[in-house]
Amino acid sequence: MEFFPLFLNLRESRILVFGDSAAAARKIELLLKSGCSIRFVSETLSNKSLASLVDRKEVEYINTQLSDDSIWEGVNYAVAASEDANLDEIFSSNARKRSIPVNVVNRVDLSTFVFPSIIDRSPIIAAVSSGGELPILTRLVRSRLEASLPHALGRLADIAKTYRQQVKDSVEGINARRRFWERHLEGKFSELIFSGKEDEAKSLIESAVKTLSSSSPSNDGEVYLVGAGPGDPDLLTFKALRLIRQADIVLYDRLVSEPILELVRHDAERINVGKERSNHLVPQESINDLLVKYAKQGKRVLRLKGGDPFIFGRGGEEIETLAEEGVSFQVVPGITAASGCAAYSGIPLTHRDYSQSVRFITGHLKDDSCNLPWHEFVQDNQTLVFYMGLTGLPTISRSLIENGMSPDKPIALVSRGTTRHQKVYEATLSTIVDEIKDKRVVAPTLIIIGDVVSLREKLNWHE
Ligand code: SAH
Repeated sequence: MEFFPLFLNLRESRILVFGDSAAAARKIELLLKSGCSIRFVSETLSNKSLASLVDRKEVEYINTQLSDDSIWEGVNYAVAASEDANLDEIFSSNARKRSIPVNVVNRVDLSTFVFPSIIDRSPIIAAVSSGGELPILTRLVRSRLEASLPHALGRLADIAKTYRQQVKDSVEGINARRRFWERHLEGKFSELIFSGKEDEAKSLIESAVKTLSSSSPSNDGEVYLVGAGPGDPDLLTFKALRLIRQADIVLYDRLVSEPILELVRHDAERINVGKERSNHLVPQESINDLLVKYAKQGKRVLRLKGGDPFIFGRGGEEIETLAEEGVSFQVVPGITAASGCAAYSGIPLTHRDYSQSVRFITGHLKDDSCNLPWHEFVQDNQTLVFYMGLTGLPTISRSLIENGMSPDKPIALVSRGTTRHQKVYEATLSTIVDEIKDKRVVAPTLIIIGDVVSLREKLNWHE
């Protein structure tokens, strides 16, 4: 992290702003919202907004040169926007000599802090920054956030705040209170405030407090079995994202990508139960037991799995244990590797001209045996997708050919699909093993076999 985000209370601070420019005026107007006092220094005063700030006595104006040391007296932060590189440099070095944090507009190299792009829904404030390097990207991110944060969010926070003590007094147990707030902040209460019906919202929350305080507190946790998709974090569902952000504890697999793990709350505990092939870090039975244990402690447990939890994910086994133990759970589907890899490599899994069905098959062959119904796989107009098939690839291609599939059948091996490291190896059934022999193919990999693979030539959009 090049710049660490902090939220400062500037009410008691004095900020020295230097430079007769529109940028200086904008910074002053923004800073004044924080309740700080501004000392403005410049030898000229031609900018109209600045002149009017001075006129209205909203800033202390000192008409002097940078060499005047008295301007630094009692200053906590400094901002320069003189648009004169030389003067900005002198200003910055004077500030740093005095250990005063300094920002020079458009000069990250001269700054010890930068101004983020701000979304103000006070008391909720969101700040976005690219460390001053990519202002356009920062603005894009900001506008997305802007769109997803209702304007009345600040009102929601203000109103909810007034019920905090009442809820604390009436709802026993921290978990019950947390659930109470989650339910209302994501439910009708918020919706009523967002649509301007504040009185209705207040009566709703008041009657909810009454009802809850008369019933005994529940301390049950919950398990969220969530599919994290094949790697690209943009392929998460909204629901997955919401639950990822809520969880108190996360048990995740090796397949869950780092950018997705970063979405987990920073104070949430993370447990890697990842499975290397034939080297299970935590045996399946203990994963099931851990889920039960944490949920019974009242935690919101996120079981995060690569792809979809119900496709070669053993998600079924995990929730079976939960059901037996009476623990409540939700299942959130994810984009499975077959869909993700197919889309990102330009291979439609079905196509009216080439394939009317698709089969998802495990290629994790027990003791290299051929206990799969190979003859069923050898059909026209069918796409085969093998998960966990890299090690078994020689057996897979040989068995298909032995059972009558054409040795020229197109095949694609997708490595680390949907991520920026995605690589696709294309060949035919008879050549694929040779094709990848000397290449260091990185797991996870997915195998797609069928005539649809040849469409990639035309439809590949991703690489
Ligand atoms: N539940 C997961 C599959 C788990 S089995 C899902 O629905 O996708 C693990 C196998 O999934 C890997 O061996 C590999 O075949 C496949 N896989 C998962 N993510 C992948 C990715 N990003 N690229 C290629 N294959 C992937």
